[in-house]
Formats: sequence, C-alpha cells, structure tokens
Amino acid sequence: MLNQNTNSPKVIKASKHGIENKHLDKDAKSIIAKLNNSGFDAFIVGGFVRDSILGLKPKDCDVVTNATPEEIKKAIPKTRIIGRRFKIVHARSGRNITEISTFRSSSKRHTKKSQKGIILRDNNYGSIEDDAYRRDFTINSLYLDIRNMDVIDFVGGYEDIQNRVLRSIGDSSKRFREDPVRIIRALRFKSKLDLTFEPNLEKEILKLSHLLNEISSGRIYEETLKLFLTGNAQSIMQDMQKYQIIKYILPVTQGFLDAKKDRRFIFNALRNTDKRFHEDKTLTPSFLFSVFLWPALINKVGELNSKKIKVPKITRAANIILKQHNEHCFIPSRIQKSIKETWEMQVMLLRIPEKSKILIKHPRFRASYDFLLLREKSGEDLSGAGEWWTKKIATKAI
Ligand code: ATP
Ligand code: MG
Repeated sequence: MLNQNTNSPKVIKASKHGIENKHLDKDAKSIIAKLNNSGFDAFIVGGFVRDSILGLKPKDCDVVTNATPEEIKKAIPKTRIIGRRFKIVHARSGRNITEISTFRSSSKRHTKKSQKGIILRDNNYGSIEDDAYRRDFTINSLYLDIRNMDVIDFVGGYEDIQNRVLRSIGDSSKRFREDPVRIIRALRFKSKLDLTFEPNLEKEILKLSHLLNEISSGRIYEETLKLFLTGNAQSIMQDMQKYQIIKYILPVTQGFLDAKKDRRFIFNALRNTDKRFHEDKTLTPSFLFSVFLWPALINKVGELNSKKIKVPKITRAANIILKQHNEHCFIPSRIQKSIKETWEMQVMLLRIPEKSKILIKHPRFRASYDFLLLREKSGEDLSGAGEWWTKKIATKAI
C-alpha cells in the first residue's frame, strides 16, 4: 500500500506521455489561464489526462485548483457553484460545461461519514498531494500542468496506465467502503479502457458489492446510464454478471438474463446501443430501460403478440414492475412515461392498419417501431408487423 503524503511525485515529460498542447480543451485552457492570472494553481485532471495518454478521445475535461469555489467564482465570470456532497463550480461555454473543483483532502476533519463509513459530505480542502490521494483509482489521479505540459503523478498512475491495470489508491476495501459507487466505476473503466483488475481490488469487489444497497436509488440510476450508454454495454453486462452485481442495480432483470430468449433480446439491444454510440447516434435512457424491464413485463402479462391484448393491462403491469425496479434504481418520471408508452404501443402496432396515420405521428412511434423490430430480430413471431411498418414508412403513404 502507498504511504500517504510521503512520496514526492513523479514528473512525466511531454516527450514521454505524448499529450500535445494543441489537443487540449480550449475552455479548460482559458479557465486555467484566468485562475493563473488571479494567482492560483490549476491543472487538468482525471479522465482527460488518462484517456489522452491512452490515445483515446476524452469525454470531458475536469479542472482542479487551489482556489476555493468562492474564489473560482470571483476569478471566472459566469460560473456557478453546485453540489453539496462535493461543492464544485460549473463554467459554461455554449453547450459545454467544464467542472472546476478545489483540491480536497480525505482527512477526517470535515468529512461526514454514515454509520457504515460511507462519505456523506466532503468539503475539506487540501493540497494537490492530498487531492491526489483522495481520488479513486491511480489512473484517474494524474495532473497535467499546461504551462509546461508536465504530468504529475503521486500514486503510480502513469505506470498503471502503461500496464493497463486498474488499482485503487490505497486499500481497496477501505476505498469501496467509503464510496461503494467506486465498484461500479471500476467495472466501467475496465471495459472502456480494456484493463485488468489488480488482484486485491478484484477480491474486494466480490466481497463488498452488497454495499451498493446503501447507495441512493437516484445515484444508482445515474451510474447505470454511464455504464450502458458509453459504448461498452455488452462487456459491462457480462462483467456485472461475473462480479454478481446485477442484483443491486437491475434486480428485476436479473432472473431473466439466463433465459435464452430474454438474453438474446437484451444482448441484441446492447449490441445496437454500442453500435449507435460509436456512430455518434442518439441513445435514450427510456429505450434502454424498456429493454431491461421487458422480460418482466411479458412474464406478468403474457406474450404481447396479439392485438387482442388490452392496453390498460400493460399499463397496470408496467406500474408494478417500474415500482419494483425504482426501489434500487430510480428512473425519473418523464422517462418512466416514455417506457410505458413504448410498451403500450407494442400492442397498438399490431393493430394494422387501424389508426396508422395517428400512430406514426406519435412522438414515441420511432422508439416503439425500433423496439418491435428488435423483438422480431430476437425471434418473436409478430406476423410480419415490423415489415409492414417498414414499408409504410418507406412509401410515405401516410
Ligand atoms: P469519464 O469522465 O471518462 O467518465 P473520469 O475519470 O473523468 O471519467 P469523472 O466522473 O468525470 O470520471 O470524475 C473525474 C475525476 O474525479 C476522476 O477521474 C477521479 O479522479 C475523481 N472521482 C470521480 N468520482 C470519484 C469517486 N467516487 N471517488 C473518488 N474519486 C472520484
Ligand atoms: Mg470526466
């Protein structure tokens, strides 16, 4: 285990790590310049540095500084302080938001913990070194100083990136107990970056995943979206089964994942999701969850392959299933509404050609039609309904 606050950092030069100034995020550069001009230190940290070293396109760019949120707000116009658990500052430029956080320390003084040791609030500011040790994994704790393009590494993250190892900073057991969501993040980084788990980290995931029950259902929902809508949904689902964490995140789906037909349906959907992500196409949370919860719906109402089934029956079953699911992973109500509409339309789409003109104009039509095709592709016999709608759309005879 690393000894906290006794190591001097390794400095990796640009000639070695290969990140070029011209590839840096323009907004982050301007934010750092403003903080520097006001006399503060500021660095790019986290995913941006990690992904750039790996030659991947970073998702966003996080900035960290020794200025407090109030000082950041003063130094940079049009910024907003947000958050309670972690106070951070958002700087908006057009549609892009850059997160600016203050160096934090994990020392006990201002860290409020629950009885089980989970961090509830953490606004305890510190030095860059303190900040490096409070982060989750070594590969996420690299600081890029854009004035000289040095990467500063207190925890051995650069070497772990080279070896493609995911390692906790400090003791995995302690770090997962402090924040069990790190278990979900570990699975996400493993798939996204093609890493292997450091053996102790792997052992602790298996041992401590039950702590995910302590996490609020809203936070689980947010993390689940990141798991499945960022291009690696298939391998993440396999790992979630391997590490037995489905029951804490998708308990309603769990029982169906080993049924051949349902598995094929879910994995076909995940394959499409990954493909759409890599083609930069839109992805919606409602489609994802309407897939995950579909086998449970069918289990309740019976096969939806006949137009005789009444919509209110689907709505009633949908309400029960969504309620069960929401206990662990809370889907916002407008998304729940879309899920229900997608399911209800599965029956309406079988009533060909009744009301086809109205249906095709419905805002949920496209998702419902895609869902119908997915069902057929996964082996359901819907008497050619998918093809009928495909032709209808193509001929624009509407
Ligand atoms: P990406 O943005 O590509 O998903 P990221 O590593 O940037 O990956 P963020 O959620 O944007 O992830 O977080 C930014 C940084 O904040 C992380 O790299 C990590 O250093 C730190 N961090 C995020 N969540 C946690 C956590 N639960 N515990 C400790 N540190 C965290
Ligand atoms: Mg990030």
